[in-house]
Amino acid sequence: MRVSLPRRRTHDKVHCDGPAVQVAGLAKSFNGTTAIREATFDAERGSMVALLGPSGGGKTTTLRLMAGFEVPDAGTITIDGHAVASPGLFVPPERRRVGMVFQDYALFPHLTVRKNVAFGVPRGPDRDRAVKEALELVGMSAEAERMPDQLSGGQQQRVALARALAPKPSVVLLDEPFSNLDANLRRHVRGHIRQILRDADTTAVFVTHDQDEAFSIADKLCVMLDNKLEQAGRPADVYLYPASLGVARFLGVANIFPGECSGGYVRCELGVLPVGNDDAPKGLAIVCVRPETVRLHPEAGSSVEAVVTSVEFRGTSKAVNLRLRSGRPVRCVMGVHIPAVVGETVKVGVNSFVAAFPPPQAHSAMQTVAA
Ligand code: ATP
Repeated sequence: MRVSLPRRRTHDKVHCDGPAVQVAGLAKSFNGTTAIREATFDAERGSMVALLGPSGGGKTTTLRLMAGFEVPDAGTITIDGHAVASPGLFVPPERRRVGMVFQDYALFPHLTVRKNVAFGVPRGPDRDRAVKEALELVGMSAEAERMPDQLSGGQQQRVALARALAPKPSVVLLDEPFSNLDANLRRHVRGHIRQILRDADTTAVFVTHDQDEAFSIADKLCVMLDNKLEQAGRPADVYLYPASLGVARFLGVANIFPGECSGGYVRCELGVLPVGNDDAPKGLAIVCVRPETVRLHPEAGSSVEAVVTSVEFRGTSKAVNLRLRSGRPVRCVMGVHIPAVVGETVKVGVNSFVAAFPPPQAHSAMQTVAA
């Protein structure tokens, strides 16, 4: 009697304790152009991590380094507990257990949906099942025999995702996954893709420069500014407790004032306000006030006078621009039912804590001292 031993299926997931992805001290330049000065973050198993930042900030390069399409100048990348890039070590892309979804989906135009999805799955007895499962996961089983040009943009994207997921990778990397879709479809598709990745229990890292997108679907946000990963954390924490003036500005904390910190409060033109960040300076500071914490006609607390200069209706909210006595602008986002008339003088207060940072010259002086 022949006894066949159970074989390890090529697409079985390999799990280990700890984060699915760890990136530490990553740096990369191209012919003297710095793409990344420093990036350190990790991705918990099954989570979705967004690399968010302005154009040229190093997001795509970080993704390409993780995929193994580029060799880092410095730093280490660990996937499922195994180093895939570190000084003297480089594991090629096909051995990293990484799936990639490209911005333009990069489907093979001459292959059916099924053959596109099968492309990355090793030949063997489990191949058909892996393809079938991946198509079911993205809800594209009925379109399996269609060609890519017979699909909508959203459907093409789901096929690209199925192709990335079919070999059961440890992590899926997505480069600007929603940028080719129109605004309405985008909102729908991103929720759907989030759910598919949750159902597949797959870790995902995606690149975006769209803050709403990152806030709405990411478990962790990595803000990349000036080719450096400035801050990584839960979206709400990064928004409420920005680590630097740059992050606060990039995330739309638009009201910036000079102030003076003392005993957990900062005195500025909008009053004496509680400070939320632990690393606030003592003495002179730059204060960031989130627009949604600025209140018109506050019933309690201190207030100052301001003139309404413009009102922007935004559907579920409205943005009111004001000018303080000093001439300094203040932006406020509030419910549409609250009255605000251009030219009117109103009382303005702040109903939450603010973030305070060292003024830029003090910051660079502190860095010089630290060095
Ligand atoms: P975007 O949102 O515009 O895609 P990004 O944040 O993804 O930008 P990267 O594409 O990573 O930024 O680019 C970071 C910097 O590295 C840029 O100055 C870019 O011009 C440079 N760069 C990236 N790839 C290369 C390359 N292959 N050769 C030369 N320079 C490169």
